[in-house]
Amino acid sequence: MNSLTFKYLLLIIGLIGTHCRPSTESEESEESSNEIDDDDETPDQVPHNDKETEGELVEGDILSSGGVFRNANVQPKMWPGGEVFYEKPRTTTFSSGVIDNITQAMADITAASGNCIVFKERTIRTGKRNYIQIKKDRGCFSKVGMVGGPQPLSLGLGCYKKGVIIHEFLHALGVNHEHTRHDRDQHIEVKKNNVLSLDVYNNNFKKRIIHDDYGIPYCYMSIMHYSNTAFSKSDNDKTIIPLINPSLKLGQRVKLDSCDIKLLKEMYKCTPGKGSGIPKEDSSDDSYSSYSSYSLYKKPGT
Ligand SMILES: [Zn+2]
Repeated sequence: MNSLTFKYLLLIIGLIGTHCRPSTESEESEESSNEIDDDDETPDQVPHNDKETEGELVEGDILSSGGVFRNANVQPKMWPGGEVFYEKPRTTTFSSGVIDNITQAMADITAASGNCIVFKERTIRTGKRNYIQIKKDRGCFSKVGMVGGPQPLSLGLGCYKKGVIIHEFLHALGVNHEHTRHDRDQHIEVKKNNVLSLDVYNNNFKKRIIHDDYGIPYCYMSIMHYSNTAFSKSDNDKTIIPLINPSLKLGQRVKLDSCDIKLLKEMYKCTPGKGSGIPKEDSSDDSYSSYSSYSLYKKPGT
């Protein structure tokens, strides 16, 4: 066992004792209920980085593309016309309760955006080549923005709460973690000494070099903010301290905050009654025949 593997083992043992109850399949229906549990901490602590996944997990739950680390420093691509295509989650993979939460998460985003961002089921008939594959891998993760072709959004065990699902969908829409904003040092203190292993997790706390905040002020209550103890040595060792109030609890995974909604509307150039101002793609790009050129795309996580 090399040292990295050993560190992961230690982390997993720690998580079982602190954040994650050992889950069994029989618990899925309980976890997938629509009940809101605001004590449920961020899924960003779920470690997932192994050879089964093509790409690298950045900041805990962002899947980079093609081994390009810090893809987070590239401006994410928006979904044309605010239309996000997804492959229907399989009933053989998810319980009906989880599928309800997925559906509700998408509905919440659409409603909050004033129907500017819409989710559409991708079928063979419609043949859209860019779409989200909702799958059950180990942990919760997504790519940031539309990356082209089928892109995974994983909802593993412990990732079934609606707020967690919204968090992952916001990544897929192009939203990054709040604590990596360029101006974060004016709002939070990052205690790197309390990070479980800087060797492994230092990158999770790096600021972005390229970042457009769309004029939205720093948001402590964002559904995209890390928790106070994200990747910490223990619950007593905070890794993120809000400067406005050190005891303020961060990392809510309950619902979109008003700042999240404002950001989405800015990103997608939402105009009431007119929808998204992000140009739609040439429809010829979406034909099934053009999709066939992607048939050799190697799906990450499979
Ligand atoms: Zn995340």
